[in-house]
Amino acid sequence: MNKYLQDLIKLSKFDTAISMFEPKIENEKAKLATFVETAEEIKASINALYLEIDDIKSKRTKNNIHLSELKSKLEDISKKNDSVQTEKELKALQLEEEIAKEQIAFANEEINRLDTLAETKEESLKELQDKLTEEEESIKEIQVAVDNTIEEINKERNVVYQDRSELLEKFDNKILTFYEKIKRWAKDSAVVPVKKQACYGCYMKINDKTYAEVIKSEEIINCPHCGRILYKEDETEEA
Ligand SMILES: [Zn+2]
Repeated sequence: MNKYLQDLIKLSKFDTAISMFEPKIENEKAKLATFVETAEEIKASINALYLEIDDIKSKRTKNNIHLSELKSKLEDISKKNDSVQTEKELKALQLEEEIAKEQIAFANEEINRLDTLAETKEESLKELQDKLTEEEESIKEIQVAVDNTIEEINKERNVVYQDRSELLEKFDNKILTFYEKIKRWAKDSAVVPVKKQACYGCYMKINDKTYAEVIKSEEIINCPHCGRILYKEDETEEA
């Protein structure tokens, strides 16, 4: 095979590998981000629950104050009962007593309702706190795994960079410029294999004459349709 073509295939493979490292790293970071996001959502729910519970407690306190006010009112009524003079006064006092008792019953009901509600909220809070602990443990584990993977990726990347710069040391300048011009638009598919007599960059079938030249690999052949550099894959694998 043409030496320049061999170099181009190698260079192109290095470049493709290099551009795949960053998405791999991003992918690893994204894994962690989904867990962090879930943990943040749980934290927000926990904060909201704390506020709700505080609100319930302050309502309960207000009801308690109201309740003790009503109780002292009842005591007053019962004291007044002793000094009642007329039927009319007695009836008015009885009505007042009835109303106060109704209000006491209502306040007690409300306190019970608030207590039940607070209990439910506390249970939800506990569940969420457990869930958060679990999530935070997962995050720790994933963080370690992700860090290790990223470290591995960086090591691999350094090796490829090293190999690439070694290759470039003895690279023909004209060939390099030629390659970089194609790479400008073709990105990582500047050098592509031919499979089933088709260019693997534009996927168009190439004619028999060009195909024969590609198989011979004596020269650098461009795809007649798109201009990418072509090579016969099997021979490269052997090389
Ligand atoms: Zn093509």
